[in-house]
Amino acid sequence: MSIKSFETPKEFWRAVLGQIELELSPMIYKSLVSRTRVGKLTEKDIEIVCEDDFVRKSLEKRHSKLVENTIKNVAGKRLTVKISISKGEVEKTAEDLMGPLFSRQRSQETLVTEKRQKSNLSFKFTFGNFVIGKNNNLAYAIATAVAEKPGELYNPVFIYSKVGLGKTHLLQAIGNRIIETKPGMRVIYTTGEAYGNELIEAIQSGKGKGHYTTNQFRDKFRKADVFLIDDVQFIIGRQSTQEEFFHTFNTLYMAGKQIVITSDRPPKEFSDIADRISSRFSSGIIADIQMPDVEMRTAILRSKRDENKDFVPNEVIGFIAEKVDSNIRELEGAYLQVVTYAKANGLELTVDLAARALGQVIKDKPAKNININEILKAVCTYYSVKIQDIKGKRRNRELVIPRQVAMYLMKEITDMPLMTIGDFLGGRDHTTIMYGVDKIQSEIAETGKMTQDIVNVKQIIFQ
Ligand code: ADP
Ligand code: MG
Repeated sequence: MSIKSFETPKEFWRAVLGQIELELSPMIYKSLVSRTRVGKLTEKDIEIVCEDDFVRKSLEKRHSKLVENTIKNVAGKRLTVKISISKGEVEKTAEDLMGPLFSRQRSQETLVTEKRQKSNLSFKFTFGNFVIGKNNNLAYAIATAVAEKPGELYNPVFIYSKVGLGKTHLLQAIGNRIIETKPGMRVIYTTGEAYGNELIEAIQSGKGKGHYTTNQFRDKFRKADVFLIDDVQFIIGRQSTQEEFFHTFNTLYMAGKQIVITSDRPPKEFSDIADRISSRFSSGIIADIQMPDVEMRTAILRSKRDENKDFVPNEVIGFIAEKVDSNIRELEGAYLQVVTYAKANGLELTVDLAARALGQVIKDKPAKNININEILKAVCTYYSVKIQDIKGKRRNRELVIPRQVAMYLMKEITDMPLMTIGDFLGGRDHTTIMYGVDKIQSEIAETGKMTQDIVNVKQIIFQ
C-alpha cells in the first residue's frame, strides 16, 4: 500500500484506525484512539490531532509504537509522526475525560445500591457473612436454594426462631443475592409491622386527598417477584391487615412468585387466631433456627472479629461465647461491649478484663425482661434530662440525641413494635422512631463515637 492509494488523509487515517482497533481493548480504543483525527499528511510526515491533552499523553506514552508501526504498515513506509491537540482543549484534565468511563462503572454500583434501597435491603446481611452451623443449616440451605431459583423450588418458605438468631439476616441475604444476580427481578422486603402501618397509611390517605391509596398499596405488592416478609406475627390480630395480607399472599402465590416468611413461632401457633393464614404458611416448606451451641457462638464471634479486624485473643472470644448463650444479637452486643471497654480504658484485652466489662450483663442477662420504661429512665439519668422533655416536642440537640438513643435502645433491647415505642415516647409516629434508630445506627457505624455512650447507658440499664 501507499499513501497515494487513499483519496483523502481522512480515509488514510480511517484505515490506520481500523488496524489499531484490532490490537486494543474496545474500551481503550474508544476512549483514546477513536478520539483522534489526522491533521496534515505528506509523503514524509503525519500529524495526528487529539481531542485533548489526555488522549495525546496516553497515545505518546503508551501507544506510540503501535501507532507508528500501524502507520508504516498502511503507508508502506515509515513517516515522522507528530502528535498535537485541538485548540481550546488544553486545559481538560484526565478526570474530565475519564469521567464518563468511571461514571459508567459507578452507575453499575449505584444501580445495585438503588435497587437495594428500593427493595428495603441492607448491604450488611449477606450469605457471605452468615455462619453456618448445626442450628441453622436447613434454613440456610433452603434460603440459598430459593435465592438461586426464586419461585421454582419451595414456596412459600417459612422460617421461624426465637429472637436474635438470624432470621432477618437470612431473609435479607436472599434479597441481596437476588438483586445482584437477577437484575430483572423485583424484590420487596418488609416486616409484618411495616406492612400493617403502610396499609393504614394507604387507607387514611386514600380517604383524604388520595395520595397513596389502597389500590396503589395492593399494586405495589402484587408486582413483586420475590416477597420477603419478616416477623409476620405482627400482622396477626390486626383485622384489616390480616385480610390484606391474605390477599397479597394469594395473588403472589397463584402467580408463582416467591414468598419467604419469618416469624418468632411456628405456623401451627397461628391457627387459633388465623386458621386460613396458618394453613397457607404450612403449605410450603418450614425450617427453624435453633439456639447456637458454644462452638457456633465461637465461630460467629471469630468471623465478626476478622471482619472488623479487631484484635481480640481467642481465649476472650471463647469466654464471651461461653457466657452469653441467649442469642446472637446479645452475643454481638457483649462482644462490642468488651471491645469498647478495653479501648476506652486503654487496657489489654484479657479474659479478666472481658469478665469485668460484662460483669453486670452476665448476671442479669435476660434482656427481654427490661421494659421500655426502664430504658427511658436510664437514658434520662445518663444524659441528665427529664422524662417529660424526652417525651415532649422540643427539638434542641440536648434532647434530640438522648431521645434518639432511647429509640435505638428500645428497638434493640426489647421486642416492642415501633408504633408502641412511638406512643410511649409522647405519641410519635413509627417513622420518626425508625428514623431515630437509623440515625444512631449510622452514627455508630460511621464515627464510632456514639458507641461509648450506648455502652454506658446499657450499663445503667442492666445494673
Ligand atoms: P432475628 O431476625 O432472628 O431476630 P437477626 O437476623 O437480626 O435475628 O440476627 C441478630 C444478629 O445476629 C444480627 O446482627 C445478625 O447479623 C447476627 N447473626 C445471626 N445469625 C448469624 C449467623 N449465622 N452468622 C453471623 N451472624 C449472625
Ligand atoms: Mg429479625
